[in-house]
Amino acid sequence: MIYYKTERQRNEFVDRIDARIRAVVLIFSGFAEMERGYDVIITDCLRTKKEDDKWGGVGIHVTGRAVDLNFCNNQKMRILDQGYADQLISQINNIIPYGSMRYKTVLYHDVGGGGHFHLQVNPTGLTTIRRFP
Ligand SMILES: [Zn+2]
Repeated sequence: MIYYKTERQRNEFVDRIDARIRAVVLIFSGFAEMERGYDVIITDCLRTKKEDDKWGGVGIHVTGRAVDLNFCNNQKMRILDQGYADQLISQINNIIPYGSMRYKTVLYHDVGGGGHFHLQVNPTGLTTIRRFP
């Protein structure tokens, strides 16, 4: 199940972001649900340039090619599970490579607002999905 921090994130996720990042989020959340019974909560999709600057972003959220989320339960309470987070990150990066040695499709970081997963796709329009393990 995918939850949203507010209606804003729901509208952006459903209507406005790059279809490829939507697919990545669905695959990521599908694994989390199948393997651990975790739900996810989307905390950030699109940002204005001003919002992105405030968070020290590099602009990818302005383009609609990135989504921030956390594991959560059905009360939208965050679940911290660093062991499974590391496992899922490497699994997803293996299945869906970003397409550049420099960047990853999924990472976990804290840029001041709390730890979260950052999922992103490249600007070229090409995203490949490898055979599932
Ligand atoms: Zn992000």
